[in-house]
Amino acid sequence: ELKGNIRVFCRVRPVLSDVDCSGTEGPVVSYPTSVEFLGRGIDLMHNVQKYSFTFDKVFNHEASQEDVFVEISQLVQSALDGYKVCIFAYGQTGSGKTYTMMGKPEPLEQKGLIPRSLEQIFQTSQLLQSQGWKYKMQASMLEIYNETIRDLLSPGRPGSFDANAALSKQYAIKHDPNGNTHVSDLTIVDVCSIKEVSFLLQQAAQSRSVGKTQMNEQSSRSHFVFTLRITGVNESTEQQVQGVLNLIDLAGSERLAKSGSTGDRLKETQAINKSLSALSDVIFSIAKKEDHVPFRNSKLTYLLQPCLGGDSKTLMFVNISPESSSVGESICSLRFAARVNSCEIGIPRRQTQMR
Ligand code: ADP
Repeated sequence: ELKGNIRVFCRVRPVLSDVDCSGTEGPVVSYPTSVEFLGRGIDLMHNVQKYSFTFDKVFNHEASQEDVFVEISQLVQSALDGYKVCIFAYGQTGSGKTYTMMGKPEPLEQKGLIPRSLEQIFQTSQLLQSQGWKYKMQASMLEIYNETIRDLLSPGRPGSFDANAALSKQYAIKHDPNGNTHVSDLTIVDVCSIKEVSFLLQQAAQSRSVGKTQMNEQSSRSHFVFTLRITGVNESTEQQVQGVLNLIDLAGSERLAKSGSTGDRLKETQAINKSLSALSDVIFSIAKKEDHVPFRNSKLTYLLQPCLGGDSKTLMFVNISPESSSVGESICSLRFAARVNSCEIGIPRRQTQMR
């Protein structure tokens, strides 16, 4: 059941065998109640201190991609019913954001929630045809790096910033009075099947990985935004719905060591910090029903403006690495998520405590 417009799920990835060969990197994460894979609480031990947090759901290292999808499939469904939906993955690099969102293509059970969501949407839209519904789906995929938008489906040379710049593309964001977002010059593709979207996702991934070598691990330093616009028309009842599904793999939230970060790296980190804190400010301010919501403080929040306010639905995954070496970052991520989560009922929730 939805309690409010924003929910936060926490997911802890397993200890990776190629990282943990010494045995010194044991997990510092524990769960206050014994559950198979799904609970609500999470505890971290750091320097003999215990930090406890509560979220809408906490998936432990045993949760499968299917276990996670079962818990979000209703939310995905609501995009077909005409809602604007955003699902974010937040966390430090290596915590499992991309695994959660995209997963691995093989074996099939490792598919992430983007392919699973799309499968469900296409399947359900077909079933609804028998009730007179006809759907039009349009996909776009972009990346925000250092506050600059990059089209991942650009027909030009894949992955090239230069190519985009040479064509003097602006990617200016505009919102129309109907709550639709337009990004000038952004490629939007009509899609009719899961096969077509899968192809586009591959193209985007390729475009991202080209950028990655050019731009120094860029993909973990940029936000990936997948958008599916859904327009449904019912010929017998003359009903119309317009839903949007945004699936967002955020840039790694890790802080840089204070010393030694200069130049591009420093600029990147400042841009990421700015947009991630802008995101939490926006969510917080919406929940508190403030008159002024600072959407314009970052490209990401401005882009998603119509999908964050109003009667839209937002879910944030906070992804956690279980190793002791990551405990500092994990606590930061959980605090960020706790701030977002406390918005659910408009006032800070007491159960999100730090002891
Ligand atoms: P991020 O996107 O946050 O940088 P990744 O999704 O790339 O992190 O995850 C880092 C590594 O951990 C990858 O090799 C990924 O396959 C693996 N991994 C992450 N989460 C899980 C999980 N729940 N189960 C198994 N492997 C995982």
